Amino acid sequence: MTGTPHHPIAIVGGGLGGLTAAAVLHTNGIELTVFEREAGRDARRQGGVLDIHHDTGQAGGLSGIT
Ligand SMILES: Cc1cc2nc3c(=O)[nH]c(=O)nc-3n(C[C@H](O)[C@H](O)[C@H](O)COP(=O)(O)OP(=O)(O)OC[C@H]3O[C@@H](n4cnc5c(N)ncnc54)[C@H](O)[C@@H]3O)c2cc1C
Repeated sequence: MTGTPHHPIAIVGGGLGGLTAAAVLHTNGIELTVFEREAGRDARRQGGVLDIHHDTGQAGGLSGIT
């Protein structure tokens, strides 16, 4: 065997961090399994938007910044 031996890796959580790590490992040929506790992408409301408009932006609405 050449190089450093890799052991199977468990990634707990299929969120942004977990899937990014999984993609990098998979691309490099490293075996892994992702464990996600939610049944599917519809299990809860997902994501949001970042609103930076002058009158409706999050910072403006919360702090009065204009
Ligand atoms: C309402 C809302 C809106 C947002 N909008 C934006 C936005 O517009 N732009 C932006 O950049 N960011 C936004 N974010 C932030 C972004 O979602 C987080 O920064 C990002 O998801 C963090 O990634 P993560 O992998 O660390 O965690 P998560 O994405 O939370 O992933 C963690 C995963 O691990 C799973 N998990 C946890 N415990 C276990 C367990 N014991 N076993 C198995 N699975 C488990 C969870 O079910 C989850 O799927 C928003 C967040 C929220 C809540």
